[in-house]
Amino acid sequence: MNRRRRVYEGKAKILYEGPEPGTLVQHFKDDATAFNKRKHEVVDGKGVLNNRISEYIFTQLGEIGIPTHFLRRLNMREQLIREVEIIPLEVVVRNIAAGSIAKRLGIEEGTPLSRSIVEFYYKKDELDDPLVSEEHITAFGWAAPPELDDIMSLSIRINDFLCGLFLGVGIRLVDFKIEFGRLYENDMMRIVLADEISPDSCRLWDRETDEKMDKDRFRRDMGGMLEAYHEVARRLGVLTENENVSQGTGPVLVKD
Ligand code: UDP
Repeated sequence: MNRRRRVYEGKAKILYEGPEPGTLVQHFKDDATAFNKRKHEVVDGKGVLNNRISEYIFTQLGEIGIPTHFLRRLNMREQLIREVEIIPLEVVVRNIAAGSIAKRLGIEEGTPLSRSIVEFYYKKDELDDPLVSEEHITAFGWAAPPELDDIMSLSIRINDFLCGLFLGVGIRLVDFKIEFGRLYENDMMRIVLADEISPDSCRLWDRETDEKMDKDRFRRDMGGMLEAYHEVARRLGVLTENENVSQGTGPVLVKD
């Protein structure tokens, strides 16, 4: 029986109280949702893959000096994180037009952008996460101007690093969504990367074939979602070739 106190439950993750004050356990579920939960399915093993992929990416980002909430992976589905105060923004960084920007501005999907674009969406399910500007963010107090400066420069560093990381394994990073939080330590506060980075929150296209290796396979009913996530994990080197992540057959971990 699970006696831990559940602090928060979202669409794809649950946060539990952690073992020490100031920590939480982030649990990755197998639920796949899209269109603000109007589409929902359970994809056996997705949580295991996202846990591993996100662990790998947060660790790599930590190594280049990006502050993150990540502490360590605990088991197949859970990681220990620092408790932060989430800033109610979804920060989207785009390198190639796809999804909402292609639709909204009538740009053909797949068009490379002449420079990376950073967009902000206000996290509010009831409003379907509307696009907002820096003016809205500071006027309504969702983040202060210096915090927004940190968010912007961290987002660009993260994008530059991840573009290279994925390109090195034959994947184009089309766009992705990240979230930030305020970490309070002693009398100090700093902005850190929070949440997850996984094929649920990125658009990843095969460099050679443009095949989609991300949640668009689910959103667009293309099938093969788990296989695509598995291939991303395999290319990043976080799983062995024949590892099976479906329930019942436990994966063999190669890196620890
Ligand atoms: N994204 C996300 N969560 C959201 C909305 C978007 O992780 O609630 C990601 C999405 O996977 C994509 C990027 O952010 O990698 C940009 O998404 P977009 O604005 O194009 O919206 P979508 O077409 O996914 O509705």
